Amino acid sequence: MGKYCVEKALIFATHNAHKLKEVQALLTVPVQGLAELGCTEDIPETGFTLRENAFQKAMYVYERFGRPCFADDTGLEVEALGGAPGVYTARYAFLPDGFEARMMAGDRRVLADIQAAETAAGTEAAAPQPTFAQNMARLLHKMRGLEGPQRRAAFITVICLIEADGQPRYFEGRVEGEILNAPAGAEGFGYDPVFKPEGYDRSFAELDLATKNGISHRGRAVAALQQYLNATR
Ligand code: IMP
Repeated sequence: MGKYCVEKALIFATHNAHKLKEVQALLTVPVQGLAELGCTEDIPETGFTLRENAFQKAMYVYERFGRPCFADDTGLEVEALGGAPGVYTARYAFLPDGFEARMMAGDRRVLADIQAAETAAGTEAAAPQPTFAQNMARLLHKMRGLEGPQRRAAFITVICLIEADGQPRYFEGRVEGEILNAPAGAEGFGYDPVFKPEGYDRSFAELDLATKNGISHRGRAVAALQQYLNATR
């Protein structure tokens, strides 16, 4: 058996089977998810940056299971909304009113305030997530009346890899684009129907998966991780 034997599979700190499959298809080293590791716990994600969240998830698995692993975190940043929804992309629709206004004013303490309120309510880990449709509805509502360059946005993925030496290494992927005025297309997930990548005249939800993976934030972050693994293994 070579050095890539299954026992040495890299752990991807995710419970999301869809994401695991997508990343397994992109990497040439064996990758296992948390289910295969027997980890069913909800991993805390309390950082105020994508980098902090990716680190927190990877370190959690590394410390408990002693296995080299990586974790990712993704955010959608809309320039005209001060970078919102950012780290709160997944639960955007349930955030308090005024979130965008504080982000636009550069008041990053809003991130800590939201987290403190959630912790006080005891709902942070188990809180129900909004649907993709609810998230998109809030985004479109907040962007009403914005035109042209004001609709600029970017998806960003940060991967944190922790190998046997316990040192975090980061890989970032980014795709620029714009938020459409209305959803288009039925492929993909999340904000795909309202995100049109730069250089394309269709939304992510109108592109096939291979095309999306070739230009997407996650595809680019995973490619950077693969390049590192190629150079070091
Ligand atoms: P996560 O960190 O990968 O869980 O992503 C956080 C949130 O970003 C998800 O719940 C989705 O709403 C959104 N998201 C992440 N990746 C994509 C994508 O490729 N297309 C559309 N939305 C995405």
